[in-house]
Amino acid sequence: MDSNLNPLSSKNFLSTKMWTNWAQNVTFPGVVQHPSTVNEVVDAVRHVIATQDKSASGIFVVGSGHSFTFPAASARTSLTLLCLDKINHVTFDESTQTCTVGGGATFADVVQALEPYGRTVENTASLLCVTVAGAIGTATHGSGPTNRCLADLCVEMTVVSGDGYIHNITDSRLFVHLGMLGVVVALRLRTVPSFRLHQRCYEGVSLEAFYGASPSILLSHLSSSFWVDFSKGIVLAWLRDAPRRDNETEVTFEDTLLDGKLRFDPIPVGEAPGFDILATMLSQGGDVSYNILPFFRYDAILSRRDTLQTEWFVALNDVPEVLRALSRLPNIERVMSHGCEVRCVRSDEFAMSPFHTRFGSEIYGALHFTLDNTEGVQEAVTTIGGALNQWAAGPHWGKLAARHWLPCYQEDEATHVFWEATARLDPEGIFRKAVPP
Ligand SMILES: Cc1cc2nc3c(=O)[nH]c(=O)nc-3n(C[C@H](O)[C@H](O)[C@H](O)COP(=O)(O)OP(=O)(O)OC[C@H]3O[C@@H](n4cnc5c(N)ncnc54)[C@H](O)[C@@H]3O)c2cc1C
Repeated sequence: MDSNLNPLSSKNFLSTKMWTNWAQNVTFPGVVQHPSTVNEVVDAVRHVIATQDKSASGIFVVGSGHSFTFPAASARTSLTLLCLDKINHVTFDESTQTCTVGGGATFADVVQALEPYGRTVENTASLLCVTVAGAIGTATHGSGPTNRCLADLCVEMTVVSGDGYIHNITDSRLFVHLGMLGVVVALRLRTVPSFRLHQRCYEGVSLEAFYGASPSILLSHLSSSFWVDFSKGIVLAWLRDAPRRDNETEVTFEDTLLDGKLRFDPIPVGEAPGFDILATMLSQGGDVSYNILPFFRYDAILSRRDTLQTEWFVALNDVPEVLRALSRLPNIERVMSHGCEVRCVRSDEFAMSPFHTRFGSEIYGALHFTLDNTEGVQEAVTTIGGALNQWAAGPHWGKLAARHWLPCYQEDEATHVFWEATARLDPEGIFRKAVPP
């Protein structure tokens, strides 16, 4: 296993005959094409539409490959693989304060391009090297009671659909689409002024105290993450808020809800303790660091590709009971190789969102598990999914789940609109599996 792979470049995952995702648990046969213009994308789609054997031909669009599963990817035997890494422009429009990004742009591209304008995006996931299109399409999320999933950044999406034409989509219900609407060649995103945050890390927080307090702690910070170690009965808490300045130099916080030992700077961003940090980019002594909302620096080298992830969303108020149920799982150390990370996400109205208001909560707890990619991994996913069954609103679309969830998404007007759009924009189903309608 290569221990020095740079996740920024999807080139790492490309070979001449096969595409493999970051975790190396999914492969799609075929030569990856890298169109450099939207017209080339249109040509590639029309070429597939014109193929004689329509029932065998499909298209899969490659993002940065950081998903662990692709539940809606076309099941056709002959796949055309398109990677949009050459269509990664980012332009900022002062008049609307929005930016337009190419279908292959990553969040690292976006925050760097916005920095000179004093603008940024208000939310990101833990990694900035994922593509905006892949993250938005899969309802990828960060953390915070006011933060919806990343599809909430989008105001307009341009797709080359399975009918061979370019469509501008402004109906936000369609923004979470799992790749089923066609090739996303551009997205227009809301931006906000660059903002500063301050982060604290507490280690050795008692799990017993965290159980009951978890909903209110998750609600009290702009963004927070909690790593629960059930075996040791402790939690690592990571809190981020806008700095409240008592004077020009001091920043104070009263994190009264947590015991544990305060430790600053839990990530190697080269910050001085107590330093408040920019939500976009900070250049200090030649060191360029992205902070806070993303867990990792934008140029992070992620060496572990031998882990897989599963993640489930439950109503925020159920988090204490759910955590207690997880703590009672037999053989927990074997099932949960890296504990459980708890974050929160605000509900929304994207038709295919796992945090949709239709599931009954305003805020969802996001329970994330990193698992060693060993023989028992599917059993572990099934055990965790089973333990959460009575509470779970649904799993993360880009992570492992115990069963196929897509057919569940057909119960209200929004999902009806979504499936109608997939049928209209992709009449032959070259972008999607045989799922509803
Ligand atoms: C280390 C690590 C950390 C992670 N952290 C988080 C996190 O904090 N929060 C979270 O929610 N998830 C997280 N994930 C999961 C990951 O961020 C998401 O699955 C995200 O979708 C990955 O984006 P991508 O660019 O890699 O897309 P891919 O995984 O390559 O693709 C995802 C889907 O989008 C489609 N797609 C991609 N680009 C296009 C396009 N241009 N047009 C049409 N369809 C397209 C693909 O066909 C596929 O169906 C993490 C994953 C890893 C490995």
